[in-house]
Amino acid sequence: MADVHFTNVRIFDGGGEMPFMGDVLVAGNRITRVVKTGFGQRTPPVAGATVIDGAGAFLMPGMVEAHTHFSWNDQPSLDAIQRMPPEEHILWCAEVAKRYLDMGWTSCVGAAAAKPRLDVVIRNAINDGTIVGPRYLAASQEITVPGGLGDTTQPHLPQPEFAFGAVVSGAEEMRRCVRMFAKYGVDTLKINLSGESITGMPSEMSQFTEAEIRTCVEEAKAWGKRVAAHARSTWAIKQCVHLGIEVIYHASFADEEALDLLEAHKFDHFVAPGLAWLINTCHHASQWGLTPEVTKKMGYHRELEAAIQSMQAMRRRGIRILPGGDYGFAWTPHGTNAKDLDYFVKYVGMSTMEALLSATAWGGPMMKMGKQIGYIREGCLADILLIDGDPLADITILQDKARILAVMKDGEFHRAPPQRGARQPVSTTRWAA
Ligand SMILES: [Zn+2]
Repeated sequence: MADVHFTNVRIFDGGGEMPFMGDVLVAGNRITRVVKTGFGQRTPPVAGATVIDGAGAFLMPGMVEAHTHFSWNDQPSLDAIQRMPPEEHILWCAEVAKRYLDMGWTSCVGAAAAKPRLDVVIRNAINDGTIVGPRYLAASQEITVPGGLGDTTQPHLPQPEFAFGAVVSGAEEMRRCVRMFAKYGVDTLKINLSGESITGMPSEMSQFTEAEIRTCVEEAKAWGKRVAAHARSTWAIKQCVHLGIEVIYHASFADEEALDLLEAHKFDHFVAPGLAWLINTCHHASQWGLTPEVTKKMGYHRELEAAIQSMQAMRRRGIRILPGGDYGFAWTPHGTNAKDLDYFVKYVGMSTMEALLSATAWGGPMMKMGKQIGYIREGCLADILLIDGDPLADITILQDKARILAVMKDGEFHRAPPQRGARQPVSTTRWAA
């Protein structure tokens, strides 16, 4: 693939500074040059490089989604998600993976799969070029207990192999389960520490013993795997800090002690609250029988309020909060993920700058890639978006595919910018060597 020379672009480099006009050169899969210029000025063409005249478009790092479920198939329940046969299910995941890239998410962190190997197979297929998708970390199924969140078996159909989650009881079953997923090649073990009211188990209820959780973490670490937890209750959040569970999903009910613990270990953890799930379950799920009256009774409105307060407190304390809202349910369809950034601004009190950084600068370490992604800087991997408009002025434009003019992952265009002559303000010219 030829080198690509973006000229006349407004560069948001991921470092927290205001954007500047400039040029970006991509050689192979890396950013090799970033130059500041005045508006309309440009550096001389680079021999052999494809020139993209951005006409002032906003150039930013590809975004990182911290709580992704490719295998959630936009259904209204865990049981309905699980019922899709494996053959259709893997095709679904492949289609959804492409959709994330389409919407500017060049990296995604798997937060559980609906069948044991879906995430691993998709990650491998993306990596070897069989299918198109973002960089991906593959997760296990949700590990749960009999009767816990994710145990969808029926009393008359008790076979655990057909459950939505991986059902274990006791430390030795946990150990066996972690080893099985390590054998399959997951990057992350997902453990459901607390409940989820829609499934009948309240969010503040916790389902594992400390011994079981400890075994999960110990065994995962022995295999070099990360642990991520569904942790809504304050007890669950504290267990994550005490036992070294790096990724904390939801964290709705964080009391003072939990906040203190998180702050004291702020660079050991990532928090992805999944606000989209709470907001849309409370207010936009009536079509599926979950009217506001129903979800209020379930406790979701109280939880949403608690979650907003917890996130505001975490933001003030400098705890890393990342986007990823449990997209893939009927009322949180895949592809609408950039709503999370708007929620961060509206509810958590982030500036648009902080919201953008939550999807870029924090994304590298979340992907275990350090500062290789999430920045427009020399030496970084070329995951680049070209945006029509200014997300710092209006963060919602990132929800609009038409405004995402180009998506580059690893130095290659997933979607090249529109050609010169089209109505959009961007054009492409090929310079002779
Ligand atoms: Zn989730």
